[in-house]
Order: sequence, then structure tokens, then C-alpha cells
Amino acid sequence: MQILFLGAPGAGKGTQCKRVASKLNLPHLSSGDLLREAVKAGSAAGASARDFMDKGKLVPDEVLIDMFRDKLSSPDCAKGFILDGFPRNLAQAEALDKLLVEIKKDLDIVIDLDVDFAKLSERITGRRLCSNKTCNKPYHVKFAAPKQDNKCDDCGAELYQRSDDKAELVDARLNEYKAQTEPLIEYYGKRNILSKVDGNGEADAIFAKLIECLNVKGLKVHA
Ligand code: ADP
Repeated sequence: MQILFLGAPGAGKGTQCKRVASKLNLPHLSSGDLLREAVKAGSAAGASARDFMDKGKLVPDEVLIDMFRDKLSSPDCAKGFILDGFPRNLAQAEALDKLLVEIKKDLDIVIDLDVDFAKLSERITGRRLCSNKTCNKPYHVKFAAPKQDNKCDDCGAELYQRSDDKAELVDARLNEYKAQTEPLIEYYGKRNILSKVDGNGEADAIFAKLIECLNVKGLKVHA
């Protein structure tokens, strides 16, 4: 099963994709996580991505396309995958179509996780993440606070704020989304595989709506 998530920065894609991935036992391929790992590892892809990420701009398409070509053709993805953050513009969407032909797979469903634009900024600036790489659990200082101040509920590691989640970069990221990523809603809308899910409200309720939506598409997932 191949699922693609669309949604603005702060819409909650990461949180929900992790839950759907563990429910369906599929790999969660987050472009942002893969780029941050590449930056940390000091790889060539990471070196070319870093400046763009630090400015809240999209990283050049070739970097992402090469990265996802490798991932999607790997044995881990043989049973399917969940895409989060790629594609993020029309050129990447067209490149993904070609990659899917190469690996003989189709997208089963594209989910547009839709959140009121005015709420995104607060969601992004309040986001915190577990620093333990194998946990990486997301929190929010107001909407999903940890039980103990700045410590992960699951593994006890320190929480941190992503450098691009600081207020100065949020407008740049939201502008990139509006200009480059939002047109993908129409791109996939024309193909009858797009489902809009209301991403406002509680994470549990949104997850339930997502499962329902996968079932409507005949994917037979149990909550
Ligand atoms: P968010 O969705 O909250 O903006 P991500 O972790 O998905 O966070 O992305 C962080 C940054 O990584 C983006 O601002 C951008 O610089 C880069 N990035 C992620 N995905 C892509 C992509 N598909 N194309 C270009 N740049 C990307």
C-alpha cells in the first residue's frame, strides 16, 4: 500500500504518519527527517540541503529525487510506504510519477491534512521533539505537553526545538508551502485518489478520521 500525505508545515503530518505507519507496519519516509539525517551525517546531499533548510526554503529538487529514488527502490519499501513531505512541488510530483512507474507501484491514496492557516504558526513554534533518535516523539508546549517538563514521556530523553521551528523562519516556510506545495492538491485532485481530512482538533480524533478514510478507500484498516 502506498500512501502520500500532503499538508502545510505544522499540520501534524509527522505525528499522524508515524501512527499510521506503525498501524500498517509500513515505512514512514519523511523528507524532512531524511534531510536532517543527511545534514548530521555530513553527506553530499546534506551539504547541499543545509543552507536552504536554514532559510526555510525548499531544497533543490535533484537532492530529493535522488534520495527518494534510492529509498523507494530499497527492499524495505517492497510492501509499500508512507510518503511525508515529498513531493513538495509540481516538478517533484512529476518525478515521483516516473519513479513509481520504474518500481511498478501506484499511489493508493493521497491525504490532504487540512488545518486552518491561522493556527499553523502557533503549532510550529510550540513544537518540541524527543532528542533520542530512535524515539523522536513530537510534543507541543501547549497542545501536547510532556508529563515532566522538557522530558520525553516514553524514553525520558531531553526535548529540543528544531532550528527552523523558531518564529523567524515560520513565515518563509508557510510562504513556500502556499506557492509551491498547495498546487499539488489540484494535481492529485484530478486523479480521484485525493481525500481531505480535517486536521484541526485532537490528535486521537484526527487519527480516527484517517483510519476511517483509509477504510472508505477499501484499504481495510482496523482502528
Ligand atoms: P515541515 O513540513 O514542518 O516544514 P519538514 O521536516 O518536512 O518540516 O521540512 C523541513 C525543511 O526540509 C523544509 O523547510 C525544506 O527546507 C526541506 N524539505 C523537506 N522536504 C522537502 C522537499 N520535498 N523538497 C524540498 N525541500 C524539502
